[in-house]
This record gives sequence, C-alpha cells and structure tokens, in this order.
Amino acid sequence: MSGKACVIGAGPNGLAAAIVLAQSGMQVDVMETESTPGGAARTMELTLPGFLHDFGSAVYPMGAGSPFFSSLPMSEYGLEWIHSPAVLAHPLDDGTAVMLERDLGEASESLGVDGIAWDKLVRPFVERWVEFAPEVLRPVSFFSRHPWLMAQFGMLAVQSAQAVSRRFRSERTQALFAGFAAHSFLGLDEPLSAAFAIMLAVPAHAVGWPIPRGGAQSITNALCGFLATLGGKVKTASRVESLATLAKYDLVLCDLTPRQLVRIGGSKLSDGYKRRLGLFRYGAGAFKVDYALSDPIPWKARECLRAATVHLGGGFSEIAASEKAVRSGGHADHPFVLLAQPSLFDRTRAPAGKHTAWAYCHVPNGSTVNMLERLEDQIERFAPGFCDCVLARCVFSPADLESMDANLVGGDVGGGVLDLRQFLFRPTWRHYATSAHNIYICSASTPPGGGVHGMCGYHAAKMALSRLK
Ligand SMILES: Cc1cc2nc3c(=O)[nH]c(=O)nc-3n(C[C@H](O)[C@H](O)[C@H](O)COP(=O)(O)OP(=O)(O)OC[C@H]3O[C@@H](n4cnc5c(N)ncnc54)[C@H](O)[C@@H]3O)c2cc1C
Repeated sequence: MSGKACVIGAGPNGLAAAIVLAQSGMQVDVMETESTPGGAARTMELTLPGFLHDFGSAVYPMGAGSPFFSSLPMSEYGLEWIHSPAVLAHPLDDGTAVMLERDLGEASESLGVDGIAWDKLVRPFVERWVEFAPEVLRPVSFFSRHPWLMAQFGMLAVQSAQAVSRRFRSERTQALFAGFAAHSFLGLDEPLSAAFAIMLAVPAHAVGWPIPRGGAQSITNALCGFLATLGGKVKTASRVESLATLAKYDLVLCDLTPRQLVRIGGSKLSDGYKRRLGLFRYGAGAFKVDYALSDPIPWKARECLRAATVHLGGGFSEIAASEKAVRSGGHADHPFVLLAQPSLFDRTRAPAGKHTAWAYCHVPNGSTVNMLERLEDQIERFAPGFCDCVLARCVFSPADLESMDANLVGGDVGGGVLDLRQFLFRPTWRHYATSAHNIYICSASTPPGGGVHGMCGYHAAKMALSRLK
C-alpha cells in the first residue's frame, strides 16, 4: 500500500494504528499534543526525583493478552513484563486478604469452598485464551469462529455481577468478584457488569496481570521503537486543531474521543455524523493519587505484599454501594480504591529502599470533590500507618487528568461509558468509520473500549486499509 497516513494522538491505540498502516507500506506521521508520546501510558517523576509514576495505566492484563501486541517484537524494543507472585490481593476487615494466584489450580485451591465454582466459571476461557481474546477484543459480531465458546461467554456477560456472584458461597469470593466487576464503572446490578469481571479474571490466569519494567512508558517506547523501524514518525508537541490542515494525507486516523473529533472535524464531517457523535456518553471519572513512600505499604494482611494490584473496598455490598453512588452522580463515603504497588517488584521505580504507590477511586464525570481523605481512609483501613510512610503525593482531579491527556474527558479513563448500547454502537453504528471516506476514529471510544491493548487502533487501521484498497 502506498500513500501517506496521519494518526492524530500517540496513545496506545494511535500507535497501534500507525504500526498497522506502516506495516502495509504507508508513510505514517503521528501527531501528538503532549511533549511525550503515550497518552495514558506514560511514566513520569510526579512526586520526587527518582520516583517514577505511571500517570495513567499501570497494570496490563489486556496489554499482555493483546493479540496485536503479541504479534509485535515488543521485547526487542525494551518491553519486559514483570509478574508479581500473586495476581491480586483483596484485603478484608478481619485482617486477612483474599489472594488470587495466577495458576488456576492453585487459585481454586486457595478459594476453598468456591474453588470449584471459580474454576468452572473461568476455565473454559482461560484454556482457550488465544481463541477467546481476538473474539472479545473486537466489535460485537453475531458471526464467530468459535460460536460455542462465545455463546458460553455471552450468556454470562449479559448478566450483572450480582447475579453471577451468587455462584459463590463465601463472602470472600464474592468480594473478590466485586472488585473485578467494579472496573466496569457500571452498577454491579447492571447487565454487562459480569462481563468486565470475567474479562479481567480470565487473563489473570491466562496471561497474568503484569507490570512493565520501568513503567507504562516502556510499552509506549516499544511501540514507538518498532514504528520507527517501519519508517513511521511521531511528532510530539504537535496538536491538531482542525482536520482541514491534514489535506495532504490519504488517510487520517483519530485517536480521539467523539467530543474532540467534533471539535476538529469542521466541514470534513457531515452534520448528521457530528450530531450522532454528540450523543456519545462519557463515563465516570477518576480521582487519582500517586505516592512516594519511605517504606512498603504496612498492610495488616502481610500477604498483600505478594501482589502488584490491591483492591480496597471490603465486601460485595460495600463495593456495590460505592459504584452505585458514583453511577447515580454521587460520591461514595467509602470508595472502592484500585491500588498498585509496582516498586515492590520493579526496583527501577524508586530510589533504593523507597517505594511508589498508585491509587484511584471513581467519581462522577468532571467531579470537583476532593476525595483525598476518603481515599486515604480506605488505605489506612487495611494498612494502618500508611500515611506515616508518605514522603510526597501528587493528586489528580478529573480536570487534572484531562489537562494531561485531552482524551480523559471529565476524568473518564475508559473513553466513554461501556453499557449495552455503547458496547454495540461505539461511538456510533459505524464503529471506526466516520462520514468521511478517508477519516477514521481509533481511540478507546471504539470497540473493544478502554484498556491498553491497542485493539481499537488495530481494527480501525485494518478497516481503513481494506476500504482504501
Ligand atoms: C488513571 C488511569 C488508570 C488506568 N489504568 C489502566 C490500567 O491499569 N490498565 C489498562 O489497561 N488501562 C488502564 N487505563 C486505561 C488506558 O490507559 C486507556 O484506555 C488507554 O490509554 C486508551 O488509549 P488511547 O490510545 O485510546 O488514548 P490515550 O491513551 O488517552 O491517548 C490519546 C492521545 O491523543 C493525544 N491527543 C488528544 N487530542 C489531540 C490532538 N488534537 N492532537 C494531537 N494529539 C492529541 C493525547 O495527548 C494522547 O496522547 C487507565 C487510564 C487512566 C487515565
């Protein structure tokens, strides 16, 4: 394929799209507003010198399990996945923690009375991850290469997390499942919330929940490094203000959310299409804090130190109440907190003997409420003395997040709500295509949605190339 293509935005999806286009032989320029590529996959010294923090994403089940990333020689470009001994810790008020082991046999054993139920729920998809991942990380299709597998998943996925959690007898396993489901930003009694839980639980055993050595930036650097060998160029500090300025390109792929696309679209996009983009709904935001720590987090349940990711929120009903509050426009008194402690497993993240932590909770889109005290209360609840270890912190309100990456509209980390409607029509029924024959959208606001997997960019570029031919 000859010709010139422009990708707007050097997030993981923009870079994935650029690689697919460059692999086809096109000459590709990637325009990025910020001074560093990566979008929500960047690593920075946000607190003190020598402490490296992931500004956005931090833990990568979908990155490690991405069919597209897996096809690239990322390790030759410096990407090294680190697996913590346990995938996940979920501490509880009795001073113990539910630990999720990566090995499915060990996990089932440690989940006791629910071991068999857990195994039954995830094993069909864990064992067939290589077939399952490409099917779920693409637009929904009624034609599948693996209809039986996908029918099995579909029957579970449309349910609420609450309904699926009834398979478990122990409140501990129900709490664990709630933590997975809360990643959905949906109410835990809403259809599809179970899909998220399963989509995160399955890779926990199939590919793990690894962190990259050196942080999120290592993923971006590997993508940029490989793109460069294909002749692609990333132009940082180059904000695209209007699609009209890109007339010299045969193809334009936009790693943007609908609101931004409307803003720069002008007469290149039809009024009807822009109106439909205007109906796109953004999801809840994140209130995030990065910490420089003098010591590892003093968990009551010491086994939490075995996992890079920790879910803080207590039992199923408390996590469900936290997510319900946010979904109905409020702020939880006891928010569900997602926490990562990468420096325990990656010594490059902090000066010798010191540590970093990354934590966020969900808030309504665009919220201006300061959740710091509530978020830290949740950490202290399971790790008394945590605040005494804090050397410095960097707090991001939803607006702060958006100011660092324009795609994080109102602090929405997933590129838009992923409820049933926006699951099927994301961002419109056209998916990656727009009203203009040579302009496509390729961000997390397209299928399969949020996460660092590059599959939105991959599918958008494939569609663009097939139509160009
Ligand atoms: C706090 C937080 C935590 C997260 N945690 C995880 C996690 O642990 N694991 C995971 O897999 N995912 C996580 N995510 C989600 C994941 O990071 C995103 O879904 C993913 O980065 C989306 O990729 P993208 O390429 O679509 O968009 P982005 O990564 O947002 O990149 C978009 C890029 O476009 C650029 N841009 C925007 N407008 C313009 C313009 N006009 N001109 C030029 N450039 C422009 C932006 O500067 C940005 O670099 C998290 C996100 C956040 C914010």
